[in-house]
Amino acid sequence: MEMQNNFSLKNYNTFGIEAKARQFIAVHSVTELKTVLEQNKLEKKFILGGGSNMLLTKDIEALVIHIDLKGKKIIAEDDDFVWVESQAGENWHEFVLWTIDQNFGGLENMSLIPGNVGTTPVQNIGAYGTEIKDTFVSCEALSITNQETKKFIKEECHFGYRESVFKNEAKDKYVITSVVFKLTKRNHKINTSYGDITAELAKNSISEPTLKDVSNAVIAIRQSKLPDPKELGNSGSFFKNPILLKSDFEKIHQQFPEMKYYDISETEVKVPAGWLIEQAGFKGKRFGNAGIHKNQALVLVNYGNATGQEILNISKDIQETILSTFGIQIEAEVNVI
Ligand SMILES: Cc1cc2nc3c(=O)[nH]c(=O)nc-3n(C[C@H](O)[C@H](O)[C@H](O)COP(=O)(O)OP(=O)(O)OC[C@H]3O[C@@H](n4cnc5c(N)ncnc54)[C@H](O)[C@@H]3O)c2cc1C
Repeated sequence: MEMQNNFSLKNYNTFGIEAKARQFIAVHSVTELKTVLEQNKLEKKFILGGGSNMLLTKDIEALVIHIDLKGKKIIAEDDDFVWVESQAGENWHEFVLWTIDQNFGGLENMSLIPGNVGTTPVQNIGAYGTEIKDTFVSCEALSITNQETKKFIKEECHFGYRESVFKNEAKDKYVITSVVFKLTKRNHKINTSYGDITAELAKNSISEPTLKDVSNAVIAIRQSKLPDPKELGNSGSFFKNPILLKSDFEKIHQQFPEMKYYDISETEVKVPAGWLIEQAGFKGKRFGNAGIHKNQALVLVNYGNATGQEILNISKDIQETILSTFGIQIEAEVNVI
């Protein structure tokens, strides 16, 4: 465990933005994490996982603590289910592949999402009809102020669409150190409800998919649609899909009858932000060192030397245009630092 000053975070954020941490330390155990928090009580702190959900617009004037706690194990099981605990610093995709190799079901639709296991509850990650809240049991977290351990059960996490207590009341107060998931051992609930998955499986003549088949299909779809951050800096979907009251949406829909949407409850609809951005003419556009991906309008990209501020300016331009064109406010999913 070595404290470093004025540390470049370029390789620690998937946008590949050059920004410095005033101080940086990687912790490899809960004991190390406790020590760092205790010894630096007065310092401002910033918790860093895989850096795949953040846009750094400036240097971080804080002690950046990189969570590198490793380990995963089965903590309980019965005939049907298994309870698996993973330390926060495990790579999410590797963890998902490990569960599939054991024939444990529940995470396969979230294959290839970047980042760490410990960050998955923060925005209740999700993809292809599944969210972390569907298999999440609890997580352990350390209080940043007094280093006490707190267990958050699912109900206390207030999970919503890309939302949780860790983005609200508990923000900047806790470091998640481990997460427990409840996965199926048999009678897996294979979810191929997303058309893309069905089509990908059909392409390979698979009619009764295994967990591995679903995971492979998701990986293939994601690789064909989303830029690999190692080749083109990005942070996945930059914006959340806006949720509107049906009564508000109906007025907008009259004006734009071609607008895509899907019902999420009796009173609300979700509008695909990517569709709005594409309609507003941003898809594939480049502005200097940054731009909007050519295949996926939700993804902003760094062509090499963009600053976080340049990308932030593009995101603001998009938000203003969507508001003035459609009267819809779209919010960033990515944490703007
Ligand atoms: C190509 C690409 C595709 C993506 N696809 C998806 C997708 O399909 N679905 C989806 O939901 N997301 C997606 N994402 C977003 C991202 O992968 C997830 O949000 C991921 O969970 C972020 O994990 P991380 O460890 O990289 O978080 P970081 O970026 O390191 O941190 C994100 C936030 O969480 C805080 N944080 C980090 N670790 C902890 C901790 N241990 N305790 C408390 N707070 C912490 C940080 O301070 C920060 O505010 C994608 C990103 C990329 C680059």
